[in-house]
Amino acid sequence: MTPPAAATRRPAGVLILGGTAEARALAAELVPTGRRVVSSLAGRVSNPRLPVGEVREGGFGGPEGLAGWIAAENIGLLVDATHPFAERMTASAASAAALAGVPLLVLRRPGWREGPGDRWRRVPSLAAAAAELGRSFPGGRVFLTTGRRSLPVFAGLDSMWFLARSVDPPAPPVPANTHVVLDRGPYTVEGERALVGEHRLDVLVTKDSGGAMTSAKLVAARELALPVFMVDRPPLPEGVRLVESVDEAAAWVQAG
Ligand code: NAP
Repeated sequence: MTPPAAATRRPAGVLILGGTAEARALAAELVPTGRRVVSSLAGRVSNPRLPVGEVREGGFGGPEGLAGWIAAENIGLLVDATHPFAERMTASAASAAALAGVPLLVLRRPGWREGPGDRWRRVPSLAAAAAELGRSFPGGRVFLTTGRRSLPVFAGLDSMWFLARSVDPPAPPVPANTHVVLDRGPYTVEGERALVGEHRLDVLVTKDSGGAMTSAKLVAARELALPVFMVDRPPLPEGVRLVESVDEAAAWVQAG
C-alpha cells in the first residue's frame, strides 16, 4: 500500500538565516534535538565561521526565491538571525515568511548602550556619519569599523586619514588616505587601545552592531576619551516577532 504523501515527507525543518555568532549558537542548541536544522550563509566572506549541522550558502533570489526554497525543502519555521545591519535579508525574510505561510522569528542581539564617560554621537546612517565627520574632524584620523562595503561612503573625505578594519579587503572606491587592517575579532581592550595610540586616532566610527565580539573598541574609546560616531540600526519590518537571546529563540523553535 502506498503511504499518504505527508507520511513520506521528512518532518518540517527549521531554517536559520545566519552569519552571526548568535545564529551559530542557536544551531548548536537545536541540532542535538534531532530536528532538521539548516543554517544559511550569504557566502560573501572567504573562510566563514561555520555553524554545526547542515549549511547552505548563497542568496535565494529575493523573497520569492526564499519562499520557494522554504516550500521545496519543507521548512516549517524561519529564524532570521542575521546581523542587525543585514537589512535586505531581513526584509526578504519577512516577505518570504508571509508568502510561504511559515512563522518567522527575528533573533537580534541588543544594541550597545552609552554609559558614563562615553562620548558618543548617534547618527542615523553611514552617509550621516561621513557628513558629520567631514564637518567635525577636518584633517582628522579616523578608526573606521563599519565593514568593507561601507568604504565608498567615506571616499570623498580626502583630507582625512582612515584606519579601516574589516574581515576581507574593502571594496573600492576607498578614501584617498586609507590604511587597511584585515582582522575579524574578537578583539581585546589592550589591542584596541594600542591601535588608537599607534595610529594617533581622533575618532571611532562604528555601527551599533551590539554583542561582545567587537565591543572592546568602545571600552578603549571610553578609557581614552575618544569620540565615537555610532550608526543607528535600520528599523525592523512592521509586525515581526523579535527576541534578543539565543535561549528565547531556541524555546520558540522547540515550542513550534
Ligand atoms: P544584506 O545586504 O541584507 O543582504 C543582501 C542579499 O544577500 C540578500 O538579499 C540575500 O540575497 C543575501 N543574503 C544575506 N544574508 C544571507 C543569508 N544569511 N543567507 C542567504 N543569503 C543571504 O546582507 P549583508 O549586510 O550583506 O550581510 C550578509 C551576511 O553577512 C548576512 O548573513 C549577515 O548576517 C552577515 N553579516 C553582516 C554584517 C553587516 O554589517 N551587514 C556583519 C556581520 C555579518 P537574496 O536576495 O538573493 O536572497
